[in-house]
Amino acid sequence: MNREKSQKLFAQALNAIPGGVNSPVRAFRAVGGEPFFAVRAQGARIWDVDDNEYLDYVGTWGPAIHGHANPVIIEAIREAAGRGTSFGIPNPLEVEMAQWIIDAVPSVQKVRLCNSGTEAVMSAIRLARGFTQRDNIIKFEGCYHGHVDSLLVKAGSGALTFGNPDSAGVPNAFVQHTLVVPYNDEAAVRRVMEAHRGKVAGIIIEPVAGNAGVYEPRPGFLEFLRQITSEHDTLLIFDEVMTGFRLARGGAQELYGITPDLSCFGKIIGGGLPVGAFGGRRETMDFLAPLGPVYQAGTLSGNPLAMAAGLASLKLLNRETYKQLESSGEALEKGLREIATLAKVPVTVNRVGSMICAYFTSGSVWNLEDAMRSDRVRFAKFFHGLLEEGIYVAPSQFEAGFISTAHGGVEIDLTLRAIEKVMSKL
Ligand SMILES: *Cc1c(COP(=O)(O)O)cnc(C)c1O
Repeated sequence: MNREKSQKLFAQALNAIPGGVNSPVRAFRAVGGEPFFAVRAQGARIWDVDDNEYLDYVGTWGPAIHGHANPVIIEAIREAAGRGTSFGIPNPLEVEMAQWIIDAVPSVQKVRLCNSGTEAVMSAIRLARGFTQRDNIIKFEGCYHGHVDSLLVKAGSGALTFGNPDSAGVPNAFVQHTLVVPYNDEAAVRRVMEAHRGKVAGIIIEPVAGNAGVYEPRPGFLEFLRQITSEHDTLLIFDEVMTGFRLARGGAQELYGITPDLSCFGKIIGGGLPVGAFGGRRETMDFLAPLGPVYQAGTLSGNPLAMAAGLASLKLLNRETYKQLESSGEALEKGLREIATLAKVPVTVNRVGSMICAYFTSGSVWNLEDAMRSDRVRFAKFFHGLLEEGIYVAPSQFEAGFISTAHGGVEIDLTLRAIEKVMSKL
């Protein structure tokens, strides 16, 4: 594929933007090479500046559940834009969006809207701390909760030690209240809760981990978290920025039948525009300013364009949508497994609904440590092979692939044929 114009743009970008990108994973560092520059996208497809066409499994990292440039969503944005882009005073669409989320997610009685998933999580954590008057937060290895200072922590040296910052520029003091434990490890959670009795404000988790590939909670793990948090008057916080409205209308909490205390949303609820939201029980949420002592605000929060796009996107979701996503996901998963077996390439396919990941390892993957056993060199080859075949998957082993309703039988077949070709050469 000729990517001359992309290469030229990337050279310019490298001069003007750190790493040439505005979000690190886009730089292709994990797989080598250079990103392409997109100019348009439609349905399951995306085109670059050199007019190459790709079948897209990144889906703008989750929001594009209806594919790209869905005409209903685009029209909603157009119409909203004609009335003004931001008002700085309440607008009716905010109320409609809040009510929509409340109706879909029973654990949410009130919701506050903001501008990104990062903001949603940051605010939910602040609220949990303010509400419980405790400082410590437990998070899980491999879970990403946006680039919130205190959550940029992966594994400490042990479950009982305080976390070490994962990013320069985060003072140790900012993460000293972040306790990190392995995903799916009940004993570790129990130990940390015991060691910090009466001091843990919240446990935050991606109910399906989607930022280190994809791995599921073991049967009973979320139930265990629900129980231990209740026993300790600790808030259970589900980060559903990725899973919300993707795995079910009521998110992962509906799928697994767990009621968290606080939930965070983003991605799909913005229909491709910047958005975030967090919500929970009335008495917890009323701790937020202007009613309560926990401050939280935003110049563009509840933005009418984002609300219009998000509402249009949410209104397109129904029982049929989720059925279709499940069957497309199933076809892709089954095909991938068969191809890998035939090609004798050790691959573990993890999938929940329309989130999928093929790890290049033979062992099952239930946490970050398992995920790290994948052959990343092999993945990089797989990635570039697919890209040459016009299939764009996330440029890292440790990302989820997203299926949209625009990925029909034709697209899945095309994808599997390309995978077959690439796998045979790995
Ligand atoms: C994407 C994501 C975030 C961060 O959202 P941004 O809008 O990128 O700030 C937080 N949590 C999870 C689980 C996510 O997938």
